[in-house]
Amino acid sequence: MEISVKKVHSDLVKKISQISGQNIGACYQCGKCSAGCPSAERMDNIPSQFIKLIQLGAESEIKRSNTPWICLTCFICTVRCPKGIDIAGIMEAARLLEARSNVDYFEVRSLAQALLEENLPPIAVVSCFRKHTSI
Ligand code: SF4
Ligand code: SF4
Repeated sequence: MEISVKKVHSDLVKKISQISGQNIGACYQCGKCSAGCPSAERMDNIPSQFIKLIQLGAESEIKRSNTPWICLTCFICTVRCPKGIDIAGIMEAARLLEARSNVDYFEVRSLAQALLEENLPPIAVVSCFRKHTSI
Protein backbone atom coordinates (compact mmCIF):
# COMPACT_ATOMS: atom_id res chain seq x y z
CA MET A 1 0.00 0.00 0.00
CA GLU A 2 1.41 3.39 -0.96
CA ILE A 3 1.83 5.82 1.91
CA SER A 4 0.33 9.22 1.17
CA VAL A 5 1.41 12.26 3.18
CA LYS A 6 -1.98 13.78 2.34
CA LYS A 7 -3.58 11.23 4.67
CA VAL A 8 -1.41 12.28 7.61
CA HIS A 9 -3.16 14.84 9.79
CA SER A 10 -0.22 16.96 10.81
CA ASP A 11 0.12 20.69 10.22
CA LEU A 12 3.89 20.40 10.51
CA VAL A 13 4.06 17.72 7.83
CA LYS A 14 1.74 19.69 5.54
CA LYS A 15 3.92 22.77 5.93
CA ILE A 16 7.11 20.81 5.23
CA SER A 17 5.48 19.43 2.08
CA GLN A 18 4.22 22.86 0.99
CA ILE A 19 7.48 24.73 1.60
CA SER A 20 9.66 22.06 -0.01
CA GLY A 21 7.20 21.36 -2.82
CA GLN A 22 8.09 17.66 -2.62
CA ASN A 23 5.93 14.57 -2.82
CA ILE A 24 7.30 13.00 0.36
CA GLY A 25 4.93 10.06 0.04
CA ALA A 26 6.86 8.94 -3.06
CA CYS A 27 9.83 7.79 -0.94
CA TYR A 28 10.06 4.00 -0.87
CA GLN A 29 12.91 3.82 1.65
CA CYS A 30 15.65 2.56 -0.66
CA GLY A 31 18.26 4.29 1.55
CA LYS A 32 20.35 5.74 -1.29
CA CYS A 33 20.10 9.22 0.23
CA SER A 34 21.42 8.02 3.59
CA ALA A 35 24.19 5.94 1.99
CA GLY A 36 25.70 9.03 0.37
CA CYS A 37 25.13 11.56 3.14
CA PRO A 38 28.41 12.92 4.58
CA SER A 39 26.65 13.95 7.81
CA ALA A 40 24.66 10.76 8.42
CA GLU A 41 26.84 9.51 11.27
CA ARG A 42 26.17 12.66 13.29
CA MET A 43 22.41 12.63 12.66
CA ASP A 44 20.03 11.04 15.15
CA ASN A 45 17.84 10.12 12.17
CA ILE A 46 19.65 9.49 8.89
CA PRO A 47 17.95 11.13 5.88
CA SER A 48 15.76 8.15 4.92
CA GLN A 49 14.65 7.76 8.55
CA PHE A 50 13.79 11.46 8.72
CA ILE A 51 11.71 11.12 5.56
CA LYS A 52 9.94 8.16 7.18
CA LEU A 53 9.14 10.25 10.27
CA ILE A 54 7.52 12.83 7.99
CA GLN A 55 5.53 10.15 6.18
CA LEU A 56 4.26 8.92 9.53
CA GLY A 57 3.43 12.43 10.76
CA ALA A 58 5.62 11.91 13.83
CA GLU A 59 5.68 15.60 14.81
CA SER A 60 7.44 15.33 18.16
CA GLU A 61 10.19 13.13 16.73
CA ILE A 62 10.62 15.50 13.79
CA LYS A 63 10.95 18.48 16.13
CA ARG A 64 13.37 16.64 18.43
CA SER A 65 15.59 15.45 15.61
CA ASN A 66 18.95 17.13 14.97
CA THR A 67 18.86 15.95 11.35
CA PRO A 68 17.76 19.15 9.54
CA TRP A 69 20.23 21.18 11.62
CA ILE A 70 23.14 18.86 10.87
CA CYS A 71 22.34 18.74 7.14
CA LEU A 72 25.02 20.50 5.07
CA THR A 73 22.69 21.20 2.12
CA CYS A 74 25.22 19.47 -0.12
CA PHE A 75 22.46 17.98 -2.35
CA ILE A 76 24.13 14.55 -2.62
CA CYS A 77 20.92 12.92 -1.38
CA THR A 78 18.85 14.89 -3.87
CA VAL A 79 20.90 13.79 -6.88
CA ARG A 80 20.97 10.15 -5.69
CA CYS A 81 17.23 9.76 -5.07
CA PRO A 82 15.68 7.44 -7.70
CA LYS A 83 12.29 9.02 -7.05
CA GLY A 84 13.52 12.54 -7.81
CA ILE A 85 12.81 13.81 -4.30
CA ASP A 86 14.70 16.93 -3.24
CA ILE A 87 15.64 15.68 0.22
CA ALA A 88 17.91 18.67 0.84
CA GLY A 89 14.89 20.92 0.20
CA ILE A 90 12.86 18.91 2.72
CA MET A 91 15.64 19.33 5.32
CA GLU A 92 15.69 23.06 4.67
CA ALA A 93 11.90 23.30 5.01
CA ALA A 94 12.00 21.46 8.34
CA ARG A 95 14.84 23.68 9.60
CA LEU A 96 13.10 26.85 8.44
CA LEU A 97 9.91 25.95 10.29
CA GLU A 98 11.85 25.46 13.50
CA ALA A 99 13.77 28.69 13.02
CA ARG A 100 10.53 30.59 12.34
CA SER A 101 9.29 29.33 15.72
CA ASN A 102 12.37 30.96 17.29
CA VAL A 103 13.98 27.59 17.96
CA ASP A 104 17.78 27.65 17.88
CA TYR A 105 20.03 24.63 17.45
CA PHE A 106 22.43 26.06 20.01
CA GLU A 107 22.36 28.84 22.57
CA VAL A 108 24.32 31.73 21.12
CA ARG A 109 25.25 33.06 24.55
CA SER A 110 26.73 29.72 25.50
CA LEU A 111 29.20 29.85 22.66
CA ALA A 112 32.53 29.58 24.45
CA GLN A 113 34.63 32.71 24.45
CA ALA A 114 37.59 30.52 23.53
CA LEU A 115 35.83 29.52 20.32
CA LEU A 116 35.27 33.16 19.45
CA GLU A 117 38.93 33.87 20.08
CA GLU A 118 40.14 31.15 17.75
CA ASN A 119 40.31 33.54 14.87
CA LEU A 120 37.59 31.80 12.92
CA PRO A 121 36.80 33.40 9.57
CA PRO A 122 33.88 35.80 10.17
CA ILE A 123 32.00 34.28 7.23
CA ALA A 124 32.11 30.88 8.98
CA VAL A 125 30.66 32.31 12.20
CA VAL A 126 27.97 34.25 10.32
CA SER A 127 27.08 31.18 8.25
CA CYS A 128 26.84 29.10 11.42
CA PHE A 129 24.49 31.62 13.03
CA ARG A 130 22.35 31.81 9.89
CA LYS A 131 22.08 28.05 9.62
CA HIS A 132 21.70 27.10 13.25
CA THR A 133 19.78 29.93 14.86
CA SER A 134 16.63 31.96 14.28
CA ILE A 135 18.58 35.22 14.61
S1 SF4 B 1 16.81 8.06 -1.91
FE1 SF4 B 1 14.72 8.87 -2.21
S2 SF4 B 1 13.40 7.05 -2.30
FE2 SF4 B 1 15.37 6.39 -1.45
S3 SF4 B 1 15.10 6.52 0.80
FE3 SF4 B 1 15.97 8.47 0.12
S4 SF4 B 1 14.21 9.82 -0.23
FE4 SF4 B 1 13.43 7.72 -0.17
S1 SF4 C 1 21.93 17.59 1.69
FE1 SF4 C 1 21.95 17.11 3.87
S2 SF4 C 1 20.84 15.19 4.07
FE2 SF4 C 1 21.40 15.44 1.91
S3 SF4 C 1 23.35 14.34 1.68
FE3 SF4 C 1 23.85 16.49 2.09
S4 SF4 C 1 24.08 16.59 4.32
FE4 SF4 C 1 23.02 14.68 3.87
